[in-house]
Amino acid sequence: MKIRLVVLNLLSIVILVCLTISKLVGQNIDSLNLAKESQHFNFYSTNGDIKVLDSLAITLENNYARITNRLGIKIYKKINVKVFPSVKAYHVAINQPDAPDWVVGACNGDDLMMVSPLNPGTVHTYESLMQVIVHEFVHLAVYYAVGDKGMAALPKWLGEGYAQYESGQINDRTRKYVKSILLGKAPPTWTELDKASDLEFGKMNGYAFSATIVEFLVVTYGIDKLVLLIKEPENFENIYGLSENTLEKQWIQY
Ligand SMILES: [Zn+2]
Repeated sequence: MKIRLVVLNLLSIVILVCLTISKLVGQNIDSLNLAKESQHFNFYSTNGDIKVLDSLAITLENNYARITNRLGIKIYKKINVKVFPSVKAYHVAINQPDAPDWVVGACNGDDLMMVSPLNPGTVHTYESLMQVIVHEFVHLAVYYAVGDKGMAALPKWLGEGYAQYESGQINDRTRKYVKSILLGKAPPTWTELDKASDLEFGKMNGYAFSATIVEFLVVTYGIDKLVLLIKEPENFENIYGLSENTLEKQWIQY
């Protein structure tokens, strides 16, 4: 039971990578109205969720400068945050009505979408959704940071690991969980993590492994190199002065 909970918690940190499609077919935001503006964000919600928007705004604004400065970007427009009143309403909006309950947030173009922290569903909590919205904002900021190059060149483990790093989702539970898996079998390779579909990525504990890869790189080589890697993933060996293969072995030791 405990292990199962841990698995759920780890799955729950996650979500959909920045979707580049401009409009989601099933998106139904008729019931969402512009209900709050902060310096960098516009918040859309139902009347019932208006009371959580102050907390969401404070959370996002408190993280905004650190993340944009770190990536060296400026975003010249306000970002829309759409808060859906339930997991079900959110899944309909992203056109995935049968998605599992841990799917609770996404970055879609210049919009952030999420399930209301007031009605978090069976997997998430109020607190974890406050991290999810920062996680999704990191995806959006990275999208700006890579610019014309686009997200295709960015390894999946790097995008997801960095989003967890900046949103404070990496903790001792993640570390212990990854360690416990490693006692039984070898971890997926970085290439396997990169090539996995979203669903496969979740199933192979990709989010937890990605978190430890990014943490390893930051702790060992510093955040500046990691930011450079996000912008120039093709220059891996130049940035670190080591082959990816060597770094992968160091990560397993770490
Ligand atoms: Zn993500």
